[in-house]
Amino acid sequence: MKRILVLGAGGFIGGHLVRRLKAEGAWVRGVDLKHPRYDVCEADEFVIGDLHEQSLCRQILDQRFDEVYQLAADMGGAGYVFTGENDAVIMQNSAGINLNVLECCRRFGAGSIFYSSSACIYPEYNQTDPDHPDCREDTAYPANPDSDYGWEKLFSERLFMAYARNFGLPCHIGRYHNIFGPQGSWNDGREKSPAAICRKVAMAEDGGEIEVWGDGCQTRSFLFVEECLDATLRLTRSDFAGPVNIGSEEMVTINQLVDMVAELAGKRVGKRHVPGPLGVRGRCSHNTLISQQLGWAPSMPLRQGLAQTYSWIETQVRLGRTDG
Ligand code: NAD
Repeated sequence: MKRILVLGAGGFIGGHLVRRLKAEGAWVRGVDLKHPRYDVCEADEFVIGDLHEQSLCRQILDQRFDEVYQLAADMGGAGYVFTGENDAVIMQNSAGINLNVLECCRRFGAGSIFYSSSACIYPEYNQTDPDHPDCREDTAYPANPDSDYGWEKLFSERLFMAYARNFGLPCHIGRYHNIFGPQGSWNDGREKSPAAICRKVAMAEDGGEIEVWGDGCQTRSFLFVEECLDATLRLTRSDFAGPVNIGSEEMVTINQLVDMVAELAGKRVGKRHVPGPLGVRGRCSHNTLISQQLGWAPSMPLRQGLAQTYSWIETQVRLGRTDG
């Protein structure tokens, strides 16, 4: 039986990953500051603790795991990472976790280590044209991410690559592009645009109006969480180290995203454009490298993933659940 460690197991992607690994028959240890908010965690062992503490890292990395997934990070949507208010905390917490985890991984080694980087590492200057953003993996340098969240991810990519080069740790780096789905943040200030829009539409009257940050012409692509897991597992179990994009190439404007959700909800919803934190003007995954190296491409249209996500968020709103 495989022994697998999932760091950030109380989070959105980590929670889904633990369920997938248990369904595969693995023994799983999950670690996080908190339990998953919306589900019972299926991990065989769940350790509550702060990975910023090296003593905790030594305690949970007490053996050679077949696979280690490092998903723990200080993380959020535009309202969390693009206001500038959380930059120091984000960098301090996330870099500290990665430094500790890698150092502790050296003791026993690991069969394979996955690190979740982000599309936020890509330079702003290649993402000013909403119709033609350039997010090919080899455009990361000269670096100029538009957030300190992105700079920390780029630093940590280099850290994982350095530990691979100098200590032979088998590290694999995926750059996630906007992962969405049920059981993610939807109203705690860390939600990303698909969840925020689903919530606003679910709460709107038919014929009502919702607030949209900016003019809504900014473009993005979104990958459904189960497809993200397919690519993550395939990368971690391959000989390819990356960094490689894990995302969808189905690019939409935020206005189109709103229209899609409204249509799924069966409501007529108007848009009131208001100032807000926005991030880059255009961003879309570029999947040539992952297709060549791993033979992977997403198969689920955005609309299908949104339908599942809307249905889950609409239920949370209807039941009056809160996220905090
Ligand atoms: P999430 O916020 O739901 O999960 C991250 C988890 O890390 C949280 O449960 C949090 O409690 C935990 N954590 C934070 N600091 C910790 C600490 N000091 N000790 C222990 N646990 C700690 O985020 P997610 O959406 O599941 O993202 C998982 C990973 O993927 C993150 O590294 C994120 O940066 C990366 N990523 C996600 C997306 C996305 O669209 N969701 C996009 C790009 C990259």
